[in-house]
Amino acid sequence: MSEKTSSAEGIEWDLTDLYKDIDDPKLEEDISDALGRADEFRDKYGGKLKDGELSPEQLRDVVKEMEDIYETMARVGYFAMLYYSQNTQEPERGALYAKSQQKSSELKNKLIFFELEWQGLDDDKAEEYMAAEELDKYKNFLRHWRKYKPYMLSESEEQIMESLQNTGKKAFVRLFDETIGDIGVEIEDEDREMVLDQALSLLYDVDRDKRKKAAKGVTSSLKDKKKLLTFIFNNIVLNHATIGKFRDYPDPMTARNLDNRVEKETVDALIEACLENVDIVHRFYNLKRQIMDIDKLYDYDRYCPMPGGTPETTFESSKEKVLKAYEKFSPKMRKIAEEFFDKGWIDAELKAGKRGGAFSAGTIPSVHPYILLNFTDRTRDMMTMAHELGHGVHQYLSREQGYLQQSTPLTTAEMASVFGEMLLFDKMMDEVDDPKTKLTLLGNKLQDDFATVFRQIVMTRFEQKLHAKRKEKGELPPEVINELWLEANQEQFGDSVELTDDYGWWWSYVLHFVHYPFYCYAYAFGELLVLALYDLYKEQGDEFVPKYLDMLRRGGSENPEDLLRRVGVDISDPEFWNRGLAVLRKHVETAEELAKEAGMAE
Ligand SMILES: [Zn+2]
Repeated sequence: MSEKTSSAEGIEWDLTDLYKDIDDPKLEEDISDALGRADEFRDKYGGKLKDGELSPEQLRDVVKEMEDIYETMARVGYFAMLYYSQNTQEPERGALYAKSQQKSSELKNKLIFFELEWQGLDDDKAEEYMAAEELDKYKNFLRHWRKYKPYMLSESEEQIMESLQNTGKKAFVRLFDETIGDIGVEIEDEDREMVLDQALSLLYDVDRDKRKKAAKGVTSSLKDKKKLLTFIFNNIVLNHATIGKFRDYPDPMTARNLDNRVEKETVDALIEACLENVDIVHRFYNLKRQIMDIDKLYDYDRYCPMPGGTPETTFESSKEKVLKAYEKFSPKMRKIAEEFFDKGWIDAELKAGKRGGAFSAGTIPSVHPYILLNFTDRTRDMMTMAHELGHGVHQYLSREQGYLQQSTPLTTAEMASVFGEMLLFDKMMDEVDDPKTKLTLLGNKLQDDFATVFRQIVMTRFEQKLHAKRKEKGELPPEVINELWLEANQEQFGDSVELTDDYGWWWSYVLHFVHYPFYCYAYAFGELLVLALYDLYKEQGDEFVPKYLDMLRRGGSENPEDLLRRVGVDISDPEFWNRGLAVLRKHVETAEELAKEAGMAE
């Protein structure tokens, strides 16, 4: 396996707040405790809700009990997932992870009757419950559950579906993770084999030759695995379609939109607004081409830093900068973020077999979130740190809503993370004066913003095409998927970036397509939302801060639409997306002016 180094060496999780280690007897105890209590729960309450025998007060206690049971099992699940993420190649970790998934399905099967009984109530009865004061705490959760009513199956069908997911979707997800985690990339002139994340991070290198060779290495590693990866993708898509057919979803994105608690119309308006504004992407890359003084930008040039480069950073100095940026917004936010560093809630070092990318896992309300980073000492990693800490603070604050309502849907989950990035960026911009350095910072930020907004819309468009094509043509060969990928990307770049045939293969490592179909638009949603929110913050100053933190604290106890109304934003307005896009357009114009000022463009 390849060896890896960065300044984050030794920055590892302390998972003992969940369990002492993999041999902790408490793990087994919790599993059997949760399953045992679920049996009792079923014996005690089966049929009661359906027959209208529960008072609102009783229903509240019943939901509370169910919440406790789920939380117990979630402790096991999160420990297993985190432990596995640290090393996906170690069999005992994989085995524990598989076991936790199996047990959690078992639990869900025992408790699913309750969800079905709740959905089975007629509307009047359900409204009566939801109007009751006693159920205030769980109102949003109960209302949300009702929305799935038209798509639910019978209890035994639901149980079969849930059980088969372990050898269906979940198995393919794991196979994908292990395949990607096991990829070693060989790059010309680099003396050691790299893990995929590290090779991809070379695309941010100033040296064009290095980027080109890295891209070549990545393509060739992906091609080596094309059979397996294509097979996984085909099955994930078919699995998604099969479930959609049984549940009678009108659209492949229905389940995601339901989970995100947004209407299809809102998502369509978002995609539409982005497509109407792709000219700013072209303008930006044309500017970049001039600044870099090259004839043509290729796909491997997309992430090349602006001239002036971005200096390397270290874990420690990134930590200081991020904390200071957070502090400027709110000392309370800094204090929370600091705990993550002080208490071993972050795993940042590079390790063979470690899961790629970065995430913050909220875990359970009685514990705290854990953050995973793969810190490679680039400024981008500092941004990722600010991003994940945004999630972390959000998850930390929303614990008071309890297990069932702590998490926000994806759309607003990306809000705090992107806001965290903005805080860091603003601080960095404040610290410099000369146009060239400002341009470098702004250009790099725009590049990231485009990756968060337009690239995610590309991803979503690609997935729409992929799912439609799979349905139309059956199992797809990789070459066809390559075409769909290039087509979706071309839409974004126009003539401003030349996409090579090699780039056609680059869909095959994107985790989101496999783990969370149609996830990606949530990033664009979050980013554009934050651009609007951040404008509000600048307008209102300190007055905005408590409202923002209060919104985070509310977690998933209200729908995004209602939550955002608290800070003065109306996301149901189709014009809303244009506001965030207008900020981006303004940034592009500023970059053009700065480039002129610095004598780097006409
Ligand atoms: Zn995120």
